[in-house]
Amino acid sequence: MEKALNSEFAGPTAFGHPKGLMTLFFTEMWERFSYYGMRALLILFMTKAIADGGLGFDDKTSGAIYGLYTMGVYLMALPGGWLADRLFGLKKSVWYGGIIIAMGHFMMALPGIEGWISDDSTPKISLSALDTTSFFLGLLLIVLGTGLLKPNISSIVGQLYPAGSSKRDAGFSIFYMGINIGGFVAPLACASVAEYDMHLGFGLAGLGMILGLIQYRLTSNNLDGVGEAPIVSSPAEKSSQQQLRIISMAVGVFGVIIISILFTGLVPINASLIASVSGIVIAIVAFIYLALVILAGGLSISDKKKVGVIAILFLFSAMFWSGFEQAGSTLNLFAERFTDRQVLGWEIPTGYFQSINSLFIILFAPFFASLWVWLGRKNLEPSSPLKFTFGLALLGIGFFVMYFATKIAASGELAAPSWLIVTYLLHTFGELSLSPVGLSLVTKLAPKNYGGQMMGIWFLSVALGNLFAGLIAGEASGGSKEGLATMPDQFMMIVYTVIGSALLLFILKPILRKMMGEVH
Ligand code: GLN
Repeated sequence: MEKALNSEFAGPTAFGHPKGLMTLFFTEMWERFSYYGMRALLILFMTKAIADGGLGFDDKTSGAIYGLYTMGVYLMALPGGWLADRLFGLKKSVWYGGIIIAMGHFMMALPGIEGWISDDSTPKISLSALDTTSFFLGLLLIVLGTGLLKPNISSIVGQLYPAGSSKRDAGFSIFYMGINIGGFVAPLACASVAEYDMHLGFGLAGLGMILGLIQYRLTSNNLDGVGEAPIVSSPAEKSSQQQLRIISMAVGVFGVIIISILFTGLVPINASLIASVSGIVIAIVAFIYLALVILAGGLSISDKKKVGVIAILFLFSAMFWSGFEQAGSTLNLFAERFTDRQVLGWEIPTGYFQSINSLFIILFAPFFASLWVWLGRKNLEPSSPLKFTFGLALLGIGFFVMYFATKIAASGELAAPSWLIVTYLLHTFGELSLSPVGLSLVTKLAPKNYGGQMMGIWFLSVALGNLFAGLIAGEASGGSKEGLATMPDQFMMIVYTVIGSALLLFILKPILRKMMGEVH
């Protein structure tokens, strides 16, 4: 441990950063290991026949449940952030969140134990109560736990750096590497053990979270007191906090109701209906909220315009994620059903393809970061709305590549893995030009005292995108003969929609830049 002289940090440092970053890096790495390891298997598990050890749901139901689950994870970031700020403190929230997540994964793994004990080799013909109960309860726990852990661990990272610290961005980039190391290794590990039994894959995801928790506990004194106590707000802050509290709680209750409805067995009949209604509710909540802030938030004209920019970009962000997040659903099923995975007599497990995005992030994130700096030096750095436009365009081009792959699939042949790999590369480039840009832009555009709330609203766009991605997956995964025949047209539809929205944003760019004022 160095205790650097002249350090801008009060506590211990390592490699020029607060030592607590190391603790959070590994905790988040293991948490993402559990999230992406399980997610790589999720839609495959739902759509697999019961006799083959899956749940035997159809594409529509599976896509809707997948969408609701991934939506839930981001939706719960809102109440999760509030609970930590006001009740538990950040540090404890991460701890409780991790425990709940691990319980969720182990819950999903439970029916695997039943299989070992009974030692019955005849194929199953129907699902037991344990199969469905453990599955839905497991998903519910992971949603709740992630809502408590994910936003708060990022907030602790932020708090490790004093205001104005030049190292904060670098700290977040390092942290993002941890996320993607977890996201890279997990699908490889979990899909490998899932070759024997999917439940083993879920169990391994849970084990990863446990390792993260042990590491967190053992090294949490590195945090040097950061994130210990909840915030006590000044009376001036209280009224704006009140709004956040109401919306957070409403969203939390809504999320729990939705997932509980699923859990109580209204599935599979109603999953896609519930998903569609949820989408509409989230969109309405976000817009009423933003409208209230603009109309009744006591803001200056220039701040009102900035919140207006957030509202407009909200739609484009939701659009981006509804395409991008098909990685784990539509594209995962494409890898399973229509991709030639044979290499030298060995079949690549489908889940391995889920590692590609994280691998490309690890490889290219430093390149993108220096690209913006380099362009900035020449005064050529694109404005944020233009970077958003690039992000959407790259997403659309990625789906255009997949269009040809779906043509091959529709003709009855298997597509080469390179189609998916090139698509994931383009989508990763899109992610790198939109995702970090969006987060930092929101922090710059949010009026004073509205920072947390605007970030919470921003996460709603990610939640909405994830939900749509699941709904699209339910339609465009070529699960039936007719579905396969229409798949190329469905992908073309996605291309038109995404490229169309990129063009629209390009047209809106001058207006947005005017509304943004001095913000770039
Ligand atoms: N891959 C990143 C993570 O898991 C970001 C995902 C997102 O914002 N949709 O943290």
